[in-house]
Amino acid sequence: GPVIWWIRRDLRLRDNPALAQAIALAKGAGVIPVYILDPLDMAMGAAPQLRLGLGLGKFAETLKACGSKLVLRRGSALAVLKEICTEVGAQAVVWSRAYDPDAIARDSEVKAALKDLGIEAKSTGGRVLFEPWTVATGAGGMFKVYTPFWKAVRECDPGGVLAAPSALPRPGQWPATLELEELGLGRAMNRGADIVAAHCHVGEDAAQARLDQFLERAVIAYKTDRDAPAVQGCSGLSENLAWGEISPHRIWHAGMAVWHTGMAQAGAETFLKELCWREFAYHLMYHSPQILTRNWRPQWDAFPWEAEPNPQVLTWQQGRTGYTLVDAAMRELYVTGRMHNRARMVVASFLCKHLMIHWKLGMRWFEDCLVDWDPAANAMGWQWVAGSGPDAAPFFRIFNPDTQAQTHDPQRAYRDLWLAEGKRAPSPQALSFFDAVPRHWALRPDMGPALPVVDLKVGRARALEAHAALKSQS
Ligand code: FAD
Repeated sequence: GPVIWWIRRDLRLRDNPALAQAIALAKGAGVIPVYILDPLDMAMGAAPQLRLGLGLGKFAETLKACGSKLVLRRGSALAVLKEICTEVGAQAVVWSRAYDPDAIARDSEVKAALKDLGIEAKSTGGRVLFEPWTVATGAGGMFKVYTPFWKAVRECDPGGVLAAPSALPRPGQWPATLELEELGLGRAMNRGADIVAAHCHVGEDAAQARLDQFLERAVIAYKTDRDAPAVQGCSGLSENLAWGEISPHRIWHAGMAVWHTGMAQAGAETFLKELCWREFAYHLMYHSPQILTRNWRPQWDAFPWEAEPNPQVLTWQQGRTGYTLVDAAMRELYVTGRMHNRARMVVASFLCKHLMIHWKLGMRWFEDCLVDWDPAANAMGWQWVAGSGPDAAPFFRIFNPDTQAQTHDPQRAYRDLWLAEGKRAPSPQALSFFDAVPRHWALRPDMGPALPVVDLKVGRARALEAHAALKSQS
């Protein structure tokens, strides 16, 4: 019988071990690519759902072009897989591993149930360079600090890159499929879906183009330009990595080639180090899944963070805190579904420190808005900034958003691009924010600039005091 390729966050033909495995097992009997919108994916934020829908649309075209078809279903993954297996007499189901605890639980249940039915169930790598359990400290434990992790992995061989199959073997019979619209993936986005979608770079070819362009030019100055939000100094690949439209292996090998041969060695090394922050995030999530839901360091449970949404949180979400770098960044996030890394650190620090709001509220807003949403990177990023994570920024290093703006956006180019209030001729991007927001926010471009939601000195002092109290308790 045919083999079912259960597609998850791996929307690619190139370098896809799950697909290669499915083709090998099928022995010519046909491969059926299936995506199932199950309760876990239904629980994702609005922007990730929108982006998933765009990715599936594009990938359906790719599959069609090589004589195959994307089968779409909705429901519990196990129930749907059983149904399809019976429908077409499938002999095996293959998928690419996930590493978050909910997906692991689901996948283990699926694997056991399929085996009971006499159906082969196989999971493969492909999402990360190094399976989290293969990287260990000298003492055999998990890494909790990034630099030793990087030193351990940089010498490792993540394995080569698989070519895309020239064609997918077709099954004798196709199972029934839903139309993409029936999955309702854009529906959670009750705001500016078209605006966000227009900023996305969807699909394998777009991802490859980003990688090529980055390694041809931006990598040379990456070490410094990556910190300037007004400059296109980064690769933008997080959006594609999040949906598996490019494999980390492809990026790794291309980056290594530049590191060891080219003129851009410092840039390439820094880039690969960043790529390995993603690996580190998966390593942490796999070995200590509580990073997704709780303070990684339990002593932080006593920190007096405000954990309920309040009007200050709303000013932060709306980009109306009165601090121009924070506000510009929050607008960029809302309009494009992305935010520059430097800006992510600044807005997160402002929320957790100057406003003393719990990082979980910030993390959830990012999850709702980011088209590159990744559970591991998002949680690690927030706990790093908040100070509650394993390898965290020291709490007392509180970013001053005005100083950060002077250092990283000295010409105001980033802030001018994203802020409309108080400007005679705002940029189209800045104005598009007002088209994207829900009406009940009642925001207009001609309203005056926002007043500071907190005094920087007061906010900083309050945060430091709370931190001192926490330290004296523990
Ligand atoms: P580049 O500079 O080109 O880097 C190349 C790749 O390295 C990225 O695509 C990404 O996969 C990886 N990378 C770079 N920096 C980091 C980092 N700090 N942590 C983990 N991986 C990294 N990244 C996400 O992909 N999804 C998220 O949900 C996410 N949430 C974040 C939340 C906070 C509070 C912070 C501070 C950071 C978060 N990041 C997240 C990490 C980082 O901001 C983005 O990966 C980066 O901005 C992506 O842009 P790029 O692809 O142009 O990166």
